[in-house]
Amino acid sequence: MKFRRLLSEIRKERFRLYKLKMMAKMEKYLNSNSCRRKIILSHFEDKQLRKASSGIMGTEKCCDNCRSRTMCVSSVNDTEDSMENFGQQAYQLMSAVSVLDERFGIGVPILFLRGSNSQRLPDRYRTHTLFGSGKDWPENLWKALKRELVTEDFLKEVSGRSKFLTLCALTVKV
Ligand SMILES: [Zn+2]
Repeated sequence: MKFRRLLSEIRKERFRLYKLKMMAKMEKYLNSNSCRRKIILSHFEDKQLRKASSGIMGTEKCCDNCRSRTMCVSSVNDTEDSMENFGQQAYQLMSAVSVLDERFGIGVPILFLRGSNSQRLPDRYRTHTLFGSGKDWPENLWKALKRELVTEDFLKEVSGRSKFLTLCALTVKV
């Protein structure tokens, strides 16, 4: 009897964790600035589905994020293009997090990539080859990419000892 109760407790706990995870996912989705269609489609492998969406993606008819992007940014095409092929930048950003020993929130790795003079970035990192390698991308684009990487589980935000400090740790993609 006891064992059965234990089992049901475990099941309940697992279900609770699952629900929490789903809620976190949903929250990230709602807070995301990326194309919502793209986020949803990324969970499906269906090529037909992707193909059917390719014409609409990024246009004002696509989703609220795409709409606000087409309305307020003049260089929409530049932004869209760079977000389309952000593999290189994703690699840069994750490397920066790693080079900085996962000790900072996302702000410092971005300063690092953009070659900033800010005091927030310790001097010893300025000799690294990646320092300044991402200065052609504006800060807000790096931040958007960071959100995308968090959503996709490549980066994780962990609360540090100080509540003002958010660590970005590399996670293993499963
Ligand atoms: Zn969209």
